[in-house]
Amino acid sequence: MIAIDYTQLQKELNVPKKIVIIPHKNPDGDAMGSTQGLCRFLKKSGHEALVISPNDYPSFLKWLPETDDVLIFEKNRKEAQKKIDDADFIFTLDFNHFSRCGDLETPLSKAKATFVMIDHHQQPDTYAKYTYSDVDMCSTCEMVYHFIENMNGLDTLDAEISTCLYTGIMTDTGSFRYRSTSSTTHRVIAQLIDAGADNTNIHESIYDTNTYSKLQLKGVALKNLKLLPEYRTAYISMSQKELDDHNFKKGDTEGFVNIGLSMQGYVFAIIFIENKQEGIIKMSFRSKGEFSVNEFARQHYNGGGHNNAAGGRSEISLDATIKEFLSILPQYKEALLNS
Ligand code: 5GP
Ligand code: MN
Repeated sequence: MIAIDYTQLQKELNVPKKIVIIPHKNPDGDAMGSTQGLCRFLKKSGHEALVISPNDYPSFLKWLPETDDVLIFEKNRKEAQKKIDDADFIFTLDFNHFSRCGDLETPLSKAKATFVMIDHHQQPDTYAKYTYSDVDMCSTCEMVYHFIENMNGLDTLDAEISTCLYTGIMTDTGSFRYRSTSSTTHRVIAQLIDAGADNTNIHESIYDTNTYSKLQLKGVALKNLKLLPEYRTAYISMSQKELDDHNFKKGDTEGFVNIGLSMQGYVFAIIFIENKQEGIIKMSFRSKGEFSVNEFARQHYNGGGHNNAAGGRSEISLDATIKEFLSILPQYKEALLNS
């Protein structure tokens, strides 16, 4: 764990500052919940705060409070660049290396602002003056709660902030079931409900958002599921054509990787998703037990993440990517059988 010197930070934030807050590219529930929750907290504390996302985010997150103000870098490069140039502080949330921010990497590397990092991924970079890094935390949203607590700001918690933070804790813990979910997580959740987070409504807004074509796409994923029982591994592939045929929109494949991991006795699941526009195969890795998908993704796929959830990419074709993956897997047989 790396902690922030709160006395020092509070001194710096004693007067109103211009603050920009950045989530990672392709932001998920934790990235959007944490940035938007923190943004509202900082505004209520008297600062001028703004979330700039590297690219657009899925529609199932667009109901979150504060969403209207999010600036999308890919759509408003000039305005976003100016905000970054003028910022006194830049908070980076739910990632720990500028390379996770797509085209925002260069503007961030050149920024003169004071950086604050709040993140739970492994191997943090050292760009921030103030770093709060804890790989044992279930979510950045839980960390933002502790951050607000340490800034003596819990009295600012309202329904909007609580809704944002509840959302990210819920999505990053698979609704409070992954190993990273602690008793403290549940205590934080209780505080958020008391402060106005409507838990039933949040679950419905995130999870009950299926459309017919999205369910059909899930059917394709189920059909494409391949099992490798000798490695306790299951994988799914989705071609660009299969996505196009089902009116694919950002976020529609969210959670599909977990289908493989729900097989009894299986400890490693992968989804390969073809993205013709970016010329990549996006991969998501999930594991149970000791097998570290963070190490696996770093080693082979220019990626990373957490022990049990990580991402990566490949720049060869979908078929070639799967072939290569299958040729790598035998090296991990022992680790997978022991996980
Ligand atoms: P997902 O598979 O849902 O994209 O990502 C799983 C986890 O790994 C998330 O916490 C995400 O932030 C992280 N992650 C995804 N892709 C990458 C990557 O390329 N590099 C690193 N360091 N982390 C990633
Ligand atoms: Mn997260």
